[in-house]
Amino acid sequence: MVVFSRDILGMSTIRSIRGMHDILPDQTPLWQWLEARLSAIFASYDFHEIRMPLLEQAEVFMRAIGQATDVVEKEMYAFEDRNGDMLSLRPEGTASVVRAAIQHGLLHSPGLKVWYQGPMFRHERPQKGRQRQFHQFGAEVFGLEQAAADAELIAMVERIWRELGLSDKVRLEINSLGDRADRARYRQQLVDYLKPHVDRLDPDSQRRLETNPLRIFDSKHPDTRALLVDAPRLADALGDEAKRHFEEVCKLLDQLGIAYQVNSGLVRGLDYYCRTVFEWITDDLGAQGTVCAGGRYDELVAMQGGKDTPGIGFALGVERVLALLSANGVERVQAPQVYLVSQVDIGATLALAERLRSEMVGLRVGMSLAGGSFKAQFKRADRSGATLALILGESELEAGEVQVKQLRAETAEQTSVAIDSLADYLKPLLADASIDLS
Ligand code: ATP
Ligand code: MG
Repeated sequence: MVVFSRDILGMSTIRSIRGMHDILPDQTPLWQWLEARLSAIFASYDFHEIRMPLLEQAEVFMRAIGQATDVVEKEMYAFEDRNGDMLSLRPEGTASVVRAAIQHGLLHSPGLKVWYQGPMFRHERPQKGRQRQFHQFGAEVFGLEQAAADAELIAMVERIWRELGLSDKVRLEINSLGDRADRARYRQQLVDYLKPHVDRLDPDSQRRLETNPLRIFDSKHPDTRALLVDAPRLADALGDEAKRHFEEVCKLLDQLGIAYQVNSGLVRGLDYYCRTVFEWITDDLGAQGTVCAGGRYDELVAMQGGKDTPGIGFALGVERVLALLSANGVERVQAPQVYLVSQVDIGATLALAERLRSEMVGLRVGMSLAGGSFKAQFKRADRSGATLALILGESELEAGEVQVKQLRAETAEQTSVAIDSLADYLKPLLADASIDLS
């Protein structure tokens, strides 16, 4: 039985969980705009949407992401359910996509391209740009080891920045993590180099030296960073195949005119990556500067129990992209296009609104259901942001007309229009005033 404390039963207000935010009605138009833009771009690259459950067996993530990673060690919302099964809210999308693709046999023919969006959950310390429920858009390609898959995916994200007007706010960094044997060889070289200086490493990095030495490159600690300057380079440890693959990716990016910087310290936080990894970084958001990140995971499908199938993908942090858009002055509002101001019977007013919505599909119609004086209703019409007021008094109703008044123009003139031809009259007036969400 669940016992509630007096506090919960009493009158104190209940708030959302720390780091989990409501997205309020004045914020959703920008979200919807971004979502529509991104899904159109994905479709233009022949990616198809996939939707997975928010809850999975915890095993899905533990196997894929790796035990010695921040996500699995300390960030997962994992719990036992009523049957004693260990479940987890998803901390990321890729492992779930792979689980679903194997389960439904989507990997039988090469070249599956899918995208997803939605909330992710990580128990991190909430701060600016870091939440416990946040949102990602991601895309994954399976069955293609060709560098062309890497290049197309990167080109798609570049297009996202261009269409959002953010190209000059973000920069692309890429690296190659090589293949498993390359990384094992390199890990040993790195450990051999760092071991004698272990005292100069920050505590997190000392721990990582044992568990996941490559992650030491993620440290922001100045002493650790200083040590890393002369560390052996991963690029020098790459095998011939991985090296050739990376050169091919770089060549294709050059050919596409995509600017990038090779950062040999870019290692990414999750264990499943190999070969190409990439991040788009901004200097405009303070410490949480990575807005989109991803890479190859050629061994992940096999690790999850599927047939050996290469894969590559990325995830974009929606909140961080929205913060960049807002900082850039991008705003979206959803206002009604017309607002009914009426002094007649509410039934007749509702009927007129219904008729307009039928005759002009998608028209956004606002009205004062609470009634009130002309003056009070005009105030609400104005506040709603509507373009036009449609005024309905007794005499108009009798004549089968409404008065149409521009709310955003200098001129205060009103025009009488027959209700029968109202739709035809409104269409050209609203053509350029419409606030298109698509
Ligand atoms: P970070 O280094 O910022 O912790 P990460 O490597 O954990 O990032 P990924 O797992 O690669 O992040 O997720 C991809 C993107 O999702 C990040 O680049 C970021 O934009 C966003 N993201 C990740 N964690 C959070 C979070 N807690 N709050 C908001 N956005 C996040
Ligand atoms: Mg993280």
